[in-house]
Amino acid sequence: MSVMNFAPEALKNLFKKPVTTGYPFVPAEYPERSRGHIEISIDDCISCGMCVRCCPCGTLSVDRIKGTWTIDRYDCIACGYCVTKCPKKCLFMKQGYQEPGAEKASVTYTKSPEVLAAEAKKREEAAAKAAAAKAAKAAAAAEKN
Ligand code: SF4
Ligand code: SF4
Repeated sequence: MSVMNFAPEALKNLFKKPVTTGYPFVPAEYPERSRGHIEISIDDCISCGMCVRCCPCGTLSVDRIKGTWTIDRYDCIACGYCVTKCPKKCLFMKQGYQEPGAEKASVTYTKSPEVLAAEAKKREEAAAKAAAAKAAKAAAAAEKN
């Protein structure tokens, strides 16, 4: 096959836009409906654990006391089920994919100190209320006897 066979195509391509993109120097354009990856507005999370229970891959974990939400992105299949189940709507899919890495590592998000302090205060108040109710119940029972 002679070089001349390719000449028309080569000439045509001289005046066409390139088919390839300059990624990673030019940011990638994701399709409108691409799922990308899971993100969280951590301060809106109530640590209910609903996402953990519904995740088919067991990739999530929540620590209520530490106020953390952890995801192992390498296990996540981006099914989006946790997003639909979150009662606070604080999980969402963001365009862009998990970056490759040399090691399989999870990512942990931690609530802000203000939110952690407010939650700790709420827990203390609830515990004090429960203790008072228990003491009142015991006193009422003692009075009866
Ligand atoms: S998108 Fe699917 S696999 Fe990923 S964390 Fe949510 S429920 Fe689990
Ligand atoms: S379901 Fe939503 S609110 Fe509940 S622990 Fe998961 S991210 Fe937080």
